[in-house]
Amino acid sequence: PVVSQQAAPAVSSKPSCKPAVFVPVDRSPEIQEARLKLPILAEEQVIMEAINENPIVVICGETGSGKTTQVPQFLYEAGYTSSNGIIGITEPRRVAAVSMSQRVAKEMNLSHRVVSYQIRYEGNVTDETQIKFMTDGVLLKEVQKDFLLLKYKVIIIDEAHERSMYTDILIGLLSRIVPLREKKGLPLKLIIMSATLRVEDFTENTRLFAVTPPVLQVDARQFPVTVHFNKKTPLDDYSGECFRKVCKIHRMLPSGGILVFLTGQAEVHSLCRRLRKAFPFQKNNDDDRKESVEEMRKFKKSRRRRKAATLPQINLDNYAVVPVDEGDEDRDAETDDDIAGSDVDLDLGDGDSEEDSSLPLYVLPLYSLLAPEKQAKVFRPPPPGTRLCVVATNVAETSLTIPGIKYVVDCGKVKKRFYDKITGVSSFRVTWISQASANQRAGRAGRTEPGHCYRLYSSAVFMDFEKFSAPEITKRPVEDLILQMKALNIEKVINFPFPTPPPAEALAAAEELLIALGHPQGQKHGLKEQQAAKLSCPISPLGRVMATFPVAPRYAKMLALSRQHDCLPYTITIVSAMTVRELFEEFDRPAASEEETVKLKGKKGRLVQMQRIWAGQGSLQKLGDLMVMLGAVGACEYSGCTPKFCEENGLRYKAMLEIRRLRGQLTTAVNSVCTDAGLYVDPKMKPPTEAQATYLRQIVLAGLGDHLARRVQAEELLDDKWKNAYKTALLDDPVFIHPSSVLFKQLPDFVVYQEIVETTKLYMKGVSAVEPEWIPALLPSYCHFGKPLENPPPSYCPETGRIRCHRPSVFYRVSWQLPAVEV
Ligand code: ADP
Ligand code: MG
Repeated sequence: PVVSQQAAPAVSSKPSCKPAVFVPVDRSPEIQEARLKLPILAEEQVIMEAINENPIVVICGETGSGKTTQVPQFLYEAGYTSSNGIIGITEPRRVAAVSMSQRVAKEMNLSHRVVSYQIRYEGNVTDETQIKFMTDGVLLKEVQKDFLLLKYKVIIIDEAHERSMYTDILIGLLSRIVPLREKKGLPLKLIIMSATLRVEDFTENTRLFAVTPPVLQVDARQFPVTVHFNKKTPLDDYSGECFRKVCKIHRMLPSGGILVFLTGQAEVHSLCRRLRKAFPFQKNNDDDRKESVEEMRKFKKSRRRRKAATLPQINLDNYAVVPVDEGDEDRDAETDDDIAGSDVDLDLGDGDSEEDSSLPLYVLPLYSLLAPEKQAKVFRPPPPGTRLCVVATNVAETSLTIPGIKYVVDCGKVKKRFYDKITGVSSFRVTWISQASANQRAGRAGRTEPGHCYRLYSSAVFMDFEKFSAPEITKRPVEDLILQMKALNIEKVINFPFPTPPPAEALAAAEELLIALGHPQGQKHGLKEQQAAKLSCPISPLGRVMATFPVAPRYAKMLALSRQHDCLPYTITIVSAMTVRELFEEFDRPAASEEETVKLKGKKGRLVQMQRIWAGQGSLQKLGDLMVMLGAVGACEYSGCTPKFCEENGLRYKAMLEIRRLRGQLTTAVNSVCTDAGLYVDPKMKPPTEAQATYLRQIVLAGLGDHLARRVQAEELLDDKWKNAYKTALLDDPVFIHPSSVLFKQLPDFVVYQEIVETTKLYMKGVSAVEPEWIPALLPSYCHFGKPLENPPPSYCPETGRIRCHRPSVFYRVSWQLPAVEV
């Protein structure tokens, strides 16, 4: 039942702003029946009354209770979209925005022109759109164009418990926008929806809302879930433990889907393979198997064709597309199987000692980078006579509800990106989940009947989990956010009503970076004045231009500088490529087994060969990994950007499509800033000239200036750990060029990097070489040409007379020469 935890006093004395109309929806009988089973349906009236009476309402309910799919329908039926104004729903994950809009359109029997979605790279919004699902980042961009969000009648912030950075900011902004709209006589409803119960950050935060909003609790779990803990202390081999648990469930327990939570793509695939081997399908009644046989046949045919055909003709004026030696047949087959994403098991295999006579298991992987059509499979009923088993990453925790799950196997771990607050160095680590997450995961069983959750850890370990995971905003660099906020004329970011404010040192680091990039006014003053002024700098003209580009400040600066020497199309491409994750599919993928190590090795060899080709010669080569990105995009576009080309060359097809979209979007953005530029996206653009490549390196230096690294000279070598190492402005430890970089062996004296990741060492990725004489001209605020600072920092080294890592002086030996690009 719905309980109003904190009955809010009547918020306004005005008559309630309930729309008068009722808009009928024509649903199919099956949909209607499924809806009626959702707990939230029984609470429609209470929820709508609360929304009608209050400008801001918080709705809490277990995942799967129907919040995301039903609340927009309630509002629609109650007439909220019947006079100008639409319903906007934000999701922290793209997967959710797309799939929820499709589901709601289907339930309401309305077209995608009316129930639509918008995510960063794509959307199907039209003039007729009345319900719009979008990512939180998309809505934040809209606030910049129209601060009052006048086109919306209602904003729903969904999955607020995830505490994504943009969600937090939106809630802060909306806490101010809602009263402003009220004052204008154009009231806006704000609905915050959250899965778990930690809503005090929103409701008990007096800086946020003047009046505490009512909290509606939807009691949702329809069926009890029995939680089973492991008795023993957790094992390291949780993946193997998952396998054993699934086998046991499948052999011994009654029918019902199984959902396994693992931490990453490689683990998911390797468990899928093991399970498919253990419980194979009967060939005849298995569509998936047929599909895989068919795919295998097609693949073999295409390989024969490839071998027979002459090599593609290369136009030397375009990016090199050089076919690579195909190697021996077997290796190639395995390789392509791997690239195909392997959710169809091509191993027609000879059984396995673990084979069993139980029902076949219909095993499906689920993770965020999986192609959408493969993701959608989990919503369809499994083939008759099989049991569904979904092996998923954290995606399945709250964003998507998979029907028919009765058993959950929870490894208790999650892979998370960790950032160093100051330097922004990030690394992925597998850590324990929070108690809230564990409970979420358990809740996924028992959606349709009583369920069971098997936790592969003991209850004592569970008690040690943190209660909730910390909000994203407290754990990552915030410079992109600060720039966005300054563009909204929020100068004193420190006073912004964050639900949970980021740490002061992260705010300071962000402001410092923005000053170094030359955006807030204060650039002209000396370092001290800058520091004094930095916490409340207004935005500068360059900063405003930067904020109009839908990319992080470093990249925005690169774009802003690229009108010179016709560099814009290249910068747009480089920036697009740098923003998209995992361009080169296999490089970072850890091998799941020894056998796979061999496979991956073969693929990597081939990719390395291609990368060398894409990196070009001479001055082009010095652009390093960024030239490789340019070359890869160029080569891919030149070949028509086909899945086949990507497969053969180790590129991730989805990433290439995203780059293409982002190039289009950035080109439009640039054209709207520089109205005379008249740019268009030319997929077959020529490689940059030698001179352009040099300018591009300078532009990259100007943008990524704080990511400058200097090679440690022989006389500075303190000990072996500094061999081939670089010093950076931000870290005291040695960093190295990542082995996947084309500059790995060349070791230029000065480089800029896109990011540092921590694995066995600190590695720089996305590396370009720069010339020392450019540094004073392009990055004056990073240079120090006099004596060491008056108060030597701890890293001052009296033997060599050098300041080792203090930022202003790390490059102090550079000479004044050749100012080459006007900044
Ligand atoms: P909540 O937002 O409270 O977590 P949802 O509104 O997402 O709940 O889900 C309500 C129900 O709709 C769930 O039972 C879920 O299985 C079902 N559902 C959601 N999306 C789909 C889909 N694409 N296909 C079939 N069922 C779906
Ligand atoms: Mg939801």
